[in-house]
This record gives sequence, structure tokens and C-alpha cells, in this order.
Amino acid sequence: MTLRSTAALALSSLLCLAPLASAQDSEPNNDPRIDPTTGRDTANWPLPPTFDHLHMKLDMTFPDMSEAAFTATQTLTLAARGTPRSTISLRAGPGIEVQSVTIAGQPVDFTKSRDLLDIRLPAPAAVAQAFDVAITYVCDFSANRGIGLTHSKPRDEGSPTDQAVQVHAQGEAEVNHLWFPCHDFPNEKLTTELIANVPEGFEVLSNGRLVSKQSTPDARSIVHWSQDLPHANYLVTLVIGKFSIVNIGGDDTARPGLPMAVWTPIGTEDNVKTVFSSTPAMVAFLERKLDEPYPWAKYDQSIVRDFNWGGMENTSATTLYRQAANATERGDEDGLIVHELGHQWFGDLMTCKGWKHLWLNEGWASYCEAMWDEQYANAEAAGLDPLKTGEIAPASEAGRKAYQRTVLGFVRRQRGGNNAYAPVYPSIVSNRYRNPDENFSKSDDVYSKGAIVLHMLRSGLGDDVFWKGVRLYIDQHKFTHVETDQFRRAFEEVSGRSLERFFDQWLIRPGLPRLDVDLTFDDATSTLTVAAKQTQRIDKLNPAYQFSLPLLCRFEDGRHQYVYLDVKGRDAAANFTLPAKPTQVSVDPTLTIFCANRITKPLAMWMNELRDGPSLFAQVAAAEALAAYQGDEVLSLLAHAAADESLDPVVREASLASLTGLEARRIAASLGSIPVQLGARAMVVGR
Ligand SMILES: [Zn+2]
Repeated sequence: MTLRSTAALALSSLLCLAPLASAQDSEPNNDPRIDPTTGRDTANWPLPPTFDHLHMKLDMTFPDMSEAAFTATQTLTLAARGTPRSTISLRAGPGIEVQSVTIAGQPVDFTKSRDLLDIRLPAPAAVAQAFDVAITYVCDFSANRGIGLTHSKPRDEGSPTDQAVQVHAQGEAEVNHLWFPCHDFPNEKLTTELIANVPEGFEVLSNGRLVSKQSTPDARSIVHWSQDLPHANYLVTLVIGKFSIVNIGGDDTARPGLPMAVWTPIGTEDNVKTVFSSTPAMVAFLERKLDEPYPWAKYDQSIVRDFNWGGMENTSATTLYRQAANATERGDEDGLIVHELGHQWFGDLMTCKGWKHLWLNEGWASYCEAMWDEQYANAEAAGLDPLKTGEIAPASEAGRKAYQRTVLGFVRRQRGGNNAYAPVYPSIVSNRYRNPDENFSKSDDVYSKGAIVLHMLRSGLGDDVFWKGVRLYIDQHKFTHVETDQFRRAFEEVSGRSLERFFDQWLIRPGLPRLDVDLTFDDATSTLTVAAKQTQRIDKLNPAYQFSLPLLCRFEDGRHQYVYLDVKGRDAAANFTLPAKPTQVSVDPTLTIFCANRITKPLAMWMNELRDGPSLFAQVAAAEALAAYQGDEVLSLLAHAAADESLDPVVREASLASLTGLEARRIAASLGSIPVQLGARAMVVGR
């Protein structure tokens, strides 16, 4: 799932600054891990999978599209797990009114409360013996706004799509039970079949392959979709509306053989033909990179209105927000498109077993954005058409930069907003939440920090081992539910390393290290002295991080050498004898350790690194660090860097930002303290 916009991102980052409770320390009565009144554990545990859910056939009729209501017959194929069982408990929302429950045509006793349907079996169901239970119900979904099934009223103006009713589903996190009874937790998978009877003229989209589409004499349309491979209930989708269905697949694309279409508002066909033209090449690239074929029968993307998110990776049928149809340039929505496509593997094929492991969905989908940017630039650098090639393009400097630009975006989102510490804030891998939706907007962001962790793993293990681990993980766990430990073990198996500390530091505990690094060089002894201090909160629940900090020394004659500082406690220091005076010393230039660094080193090194640093990470760090310096030389360097078209855009932007800050301070200093109107607020600069 993708957040909707930068505004939503800003909101979520504001929200995630709020801890789960007002606790500011680890005193028991201020500890969000327990309820202070009752002493109860506040953690959330998975819904017990007492029945194996094998198949769902959901046959729905929408008698009048102007009403947010339908009738349905749902047939569930189930088998008891563990022990013979007498009761089937399904989550079923308040809008669902159950009329009958039958097994083999015989009525069965049931009770329906606000959110639960309990079915009492006439005799205990034997273990592993499949049986069908049929539930007939009516559903009033008029109360739903963007969750479960949403009914969008026609607009007075706009295209025929806008002027028609629209219905769309949104099941993640646990809201599909608002329109069909189900085991609404991600730790269960089943095949699903959906039949919708709607007035003629409305299109119907759901998961899997189209089985049939029939017109009836009474001007109705019956559309039957079948998802023949198991997936989780939160990924079941239904979209109804008057769409233009634009084919973006075909034999002349990078991915022949896979049906692909965009269901878009009438009148936006030209936009989506351009904007979504990357989709086939993205599919082909991910298939090769992950060494795993695209798993499903088709890949459709629908663009709906009144959608609360940017995108939702429903199995084989992604849903996207309305603005996606307004984009006009190829690339405008590539991040969103490849994110939801990446979920078809990471999320839909391998599904987090509980929201505690959501980063295995969202971190990976976010990382796919960086992977695609890298591939696109690599293809261009190799003289290939990135939209036509299905091959993995060879590595290039342009690809490395494109990849680093995207990772840098993740770093900036996390570095500024994550001041989390235990026990007040939940970590990435945590089952502490009041509502499952909170897991999408934690300070330890499953999207950006999740992707950074994958980047760190890749840069720490090297490309060969990393991709071997990814492929092993997929081979071992496709079509199943995954936990973080299973992911870790795949990488331990291929790397021969113990990764428990790595996973514990970056995923099991919240926050990130903040590191002050001081670098000095003694010409007389040719010694580099490195001193580091961890400045984040350190206490019994938040011990100092442990890692080996790489420093890349580059010399006048073009040689380079890595030295490593072992950081184990608050303070660490070491001396390194170097063959010559380095022109640059870059702290962790490939970002193997995710820190918020404050580095002190000679100005000349920063200036060298801005123009010629070993990575975009290093160059941007230099541009940002130079904002703390004064003098015409620094101003001139930043001004030239900002204007230099041979430098990467992110380096130029960072240079411009530092230059602007320096200039503002210089002017303010020359004028004394002046008030500057910034929006409605007065800000005083130059103090
Ligand atoms: Zn997502």
C-alpha cells in the first residue's frame, strides 16, 4: 500500500511523532507495553487460524447502483486444523446482515454480533476434511468511507466515468470483513472467486483471470473472476464503474504473454498509455532480477476516486488514486507503479504473517522503486531502450547514481523524523499498536527505514550474496506467510554470517544512531585520528549501537584505502597510519550503517568531496556540511556546484540549499536582526 501524497506523508510523519502513550520514560505506569490500569499486555497477537480456508466463492448482486447495498451468497471451503472443531468464527462487519447459513443444504445455527459471525456446526468438523459452508447475506456498505467497500456517488460534471457511480474495495489492513465474512488477518491464504451481477454498462474488476462476462435479457451484466492461486483475504478486490480499459500489454512490449490493462476514467486514455508504458518492462525486469516469474494470471491497474491511499497492491489488480490519471509524462508515476507491482511478489506471493512483519511487504515494495531507477538508468547507459528491454541492464555509474538518489530520499525521510527510543516508540518489527493501520505511519517507518535496511544488507553483503539470499527467500517462502526471522535465515544461509545483531539493531529496536565523528590528520606522523561519539539516547533499553564504521581515504595519486572504526559503546577512537596525506576521508560512503552523522573534518576535504566524492551520499553530505562554514571560498564553491550541469541534480540541489542558508545568514548578519514574514508566522533570522 502506498501513502497518497506528500501532504499525507507530512501528516503521517507528524502523526508518527506521537508516541503510543504519553510515556516519557520506562516507569511501569508510563510504559505503553502494558495497560497501566489492568496491567494487561497491550501487544496484538495473530488471529488463530483454527480452520484452513481453502476457497471462497462470492456471488454478489447489486440491484441498484445508486444504493450502497448488495445481496450475496458466499461459499467457503474450510477444513479444521489441529483438533475437531464445533464453531467457525468469522469476522463480519456491522453492515452485514446474515440471512442463512447452510451446510450441504441444511440450515446451521449461527449468531451474528456487531463484528463476528459464529457458526455452530451440527457435529465437530474433522481435522483436514474439507467441507463447504454457504452464507447468504445482505450488505449495507453506505457507512464505509474508503475502507472495506466504498460507494462513490456520481459527480455532477466530468467524464462519463465521473458522472457514474463507482465502487471500490480496500481491504488492508483488516477491513475486508466489512463486505464479506472472513478470517481477516494476513496469516491465512485461500483461492477466491468473485461473481458480480451489475446493471449493463458497468465494468467489474477483481483478482485473477476473467472466467466469463455475460449479458442477461434484463439488461444486467454478470462478470466472473477467479483467483486460482491462494492469497490473503485483505488482497481480495472489487472495482465497479464505467471505465475505459486501456491495453498496455502485447507481443511488442518487454513482457509478451501477460495480459495488462489500465482501467481509467474515460478521456484519460492518452495519459495512461504514456504514463503506464513502463509497466511491461518493470514486470520483465523484476521477474529476472528476482528469478521468479510474475505469479498471477494478469496485471491490471485501476484508477478510482475517493481512494484513501496512493495505491493498493490487490493481487493481480492494483488500485490507484484518481490523480494517477492526470499525470502526463512517462516517469511521473513510476515510483507508485513499480511499488505496487513489487508487492505482487513482496506482499502478495510472500505475505507478512502479521502486521508486525509489514516491513517485509512495504520495505521491499519501496526498495523496488530504487531497483527500477537503477535498471532504467543502467539500460539508458547501455544504449538500450529501458521500456523495450526485458533484460537486466549491466551496472553503470548512471545506474548507481539513480539508485543512490532514491535511497537518499528514504534516508532523508527517516533521518529527520525518527527520534524514537524504547519502550515508548514501537520498532519496525513490533506488535504494539492500537489499530493495525498505525503500522503504516510509525516513526520507524516500514517504507523508508525498511528500504534502507535492505540497502544496508545489500551493501554489507555485496550484490552476489544479497541477490542469492533474496532468491532463496522467495524459493523457500512463495505462496506462504513470512516472518522476519525467516527472511534473516535465508541471508545467513547464503552468506555464512550471523545476522542476528544486524536485524536486532535495525528492526527489533526503534530509532537510529546519531553519531558525531571527528577526523584529524597529523602530517608529521601521517596518522589519521578518528573519534566517534553516539549522541542518541543510551540507557538500559537503548544500548549503544555496535558496528564497524568504514572510512574511505583517497589520495592525490588516485589510490584509495578503507579503514574501519569499531564502534561498540558511546565513544570510540582509533589511529590509522596512512601512506600519505589523504585528499578525502569519506565516512561510510556507501551507507552501510544508517546513522545521522555530524562530521568534523578539514574544510579542504569537504570541498574535494563536494565536487568529486566517491558516491552521491558523500557528495550530498559534503554539500550539507559546507552550510556550517563561512567565507567567500565556500560560497563560490557552492554557487559553482549549484550551477554545474555535470554534477548530479541532488548534489546541485543540496549545494543550492546550503548556499541559500549561508547567503541568508550573511545578509542577515550584515543588516542585524530582521524579521522575515514566512506565511502567517514571523521568523527572526540573523540573531
Ligand atoms: Zn506498499
